[in-house]
Amino acid sequence: MIVFDLVCSSAHRFEAWFGSSADYEDQRQRGLLACPVCNSAEVGKAVMAPAVPAKSNQKAEKASLANDDPMARLLMLQRAFEANSDYVGDRFAEEARAIHRNGETRSVHGEASAEEVKALHDEGVPLLPLPFRPRARSDA
Ligand SMILES: [Zn+2]
Repeated sequence: MIVFDLVCSSAHRFEAWFGSSADYEDQRQRGLLACPVCNSAEVGKAVMAPAVPAKSNQKAEKASLANDDPMARLLMLQRAFEANSDYVGDRFAEEARAIHRNGETRSVHGEASAEEVKALHDEGVPLLPLPFRPRARSDA
């Protein structure tokens, strides 16, 4: 038997016993794991913190929760995307349209009005809303 420290998407931590590591993987993939607090099936292994007295452990606890925070992970994904994408501000609609028309592979991000987004969708231009304001804007 093996014990894992698990955490759900709402950052509830709990322990669960498994026959083996593969057993855990199998149960997780079949959606059999659920958080005992909120019943969420979005459960993953918590980052292991070294066993130290409770007081000095508080920092490690906070850090591992940040790593498990879905919003923090989303922000990291967006930052990675921004690093490979040009910020074009409110020229986004025309840039996206030009890329689509010319079959270019570069990617851009910026701001667009609801009307522009709808028009782009109607023209079949692939685009995704970003969960956070682009860095170039929030740093200004
Ligand atoms: Zn939970």
